[in-house]
Amino acid sequence: MIATEPDLLARDAGLLWHPYAPLDAGASYAVTEARGTRLVLEDARGERREVFDGMSSWWSAVHGYRNPVLDAAARGQLERFSHVMFGGLTHRPAIELAERLVAIAPEGLRHVFLADSGSISVEVALKLALQYQDSKGRSGRHRFAALRGGYHGDTFATMGICDPVDGMHAAFAPLATTQVFLPKPPAARRTEQGGWEQSESAMQQWEQETRRLIAAHASQLAGIVCEPVLQGAGGMRIYAPAALRILRGLANEYDLVLIADEIATGFGRTGELFAVQYAGIEPDIMCVGKALTGGYLTLAAMLCTTRITSALASGRGGTGAALLHGPTFMGNPLACAVACASLDLLTGAPGTDSPGQEPWRTQVAALESGLRSALAPATQLDRITDVRVLGGVGAIELDGPVNVTALTQAAVDRGLWVRPFRNLAYVMPPYTSTPSDIAALGRSLIGALEQIHG
Ligand SMILES: *Cc1c(COP(=O)(O)O)cnc(C)c1O
Repeated sequence: MIATEPDLLARDAGLLWHPYAPLDAGASYAVTEARGTRLVLEDARGERREVFDGMSSWWSAVHGYRNPVLDAAARGQLERFSHVMFGGLTHRPAIELAERLVAIAPEGLRHVFLADSGSISVEVALKLALQYQDSKGRSGRHRFAALRGGYHGDTFATMGICDPVDGMHAAFAPLATTQVFLPKPPAARRTEQGGWEQSESAMQQWEQETRRLIAAHASQLAGIVCEPVLQGAGGMRIYAPAALRILRGLANEYDLVLIADEIATGFGRTGELFAVQYAGIEPDIMCVGKALTGGYLTLAAMLCTTRITSALASGRGGTGAALLHGPTFMGNPLACAVACASLDLLTGAPGTDSPGQEPWRTQVAALESGLRSALAPATQLDRITDVRVLGGVGAIELDGPVNVTALTQAAVDRGLWVRPFRNLAYVMPPYTSTPSDIAALGRSLIGALEQIHG
């Protein structure tokens, strides 16, 4: 038993910033232990309770905490070396990770840039798209088309392609003025039979407006950026794969670089290994992060096709053949080693407990059916306007803003950790959750919603 440290929360407030919070807001709980799908939280009175983690630490901890396979991978690499520079040097963990990523990524994505966070991988993708256009003699193409409702990160260039109103960066609105915003693709839902339900007329209208905007700005555009099928932090919106096929067609027509931001959706979360696979399309560039290391370490990757790299290699652009990026912790061996182990667990690589079985498929399918029944009763509540599930993601939408502090506490009192935002209570549980975990999650979340917003 670890000694209680009730003063941790007091020491935090005013000292540490937390995401999107005032400095003195501090935190409500300190984590003292994390194991499997459970977190142990300590409140300001020093009281502890074990809760089920409904958030997978923001999409990342898909195999749960203290996973023995991931722990062993980290320990094994720690005993060799934790980090070396990547300039002029290479190592087995980076090579093996890139080989694994290329093997599972949509066809054509053959080259890998390892970045230290999701936002940075998107920055690198944007840079590469600019360099691609430059190498084709089109240096005037320096803008990007992005979907309204999108979220792509917190760094400067990525802020500019987030939704200019709801993308969490409205305070920096001028950044978005250089970009071209396409309308939000119409909301859709995936049926239990695997089809897609959406309004055909809304889709036609969306396509018309999107075509018009791309055509009007094509001479200035370098690429199109999207979160395939599920827009996450911009509002947990689900749209039909048909919209992606339209974007792919437009990118081909105008020689734009199609960038799929799969940082949240990648590695099975939506029910396909990568959400673009719902549409059967191949992006020119794909970014992954979040679940890449199973939530252990910060790592992201940008993958691209040979069409893009060979344009740069021609050396015709003013920016030259080199991709102009190289962070200090590029290809961190510790993170790469854990990422390899995480991908092996997902894909059932030889040597794991389930060789050749693609465990993620069964796990996410079970999450989807579990969440569909566990969250369904929420539709009975007066203030709930929508309940949607896709793969291992469930979102409950309210008719107004959630009381984040009160709802979080009401959920913790019922043994569940969630972090609602805006008018949404949403969950993306670890893939290792059991059916009874998911049933309990539904009861806890709906009970908390009834108590606070009933
Ligand atoms: C989280 C996220 C990012 C940013 O990743 P960080 O690792 O937080 O920088 C970018 N795009 C999408 C779709 C995300 O969900």
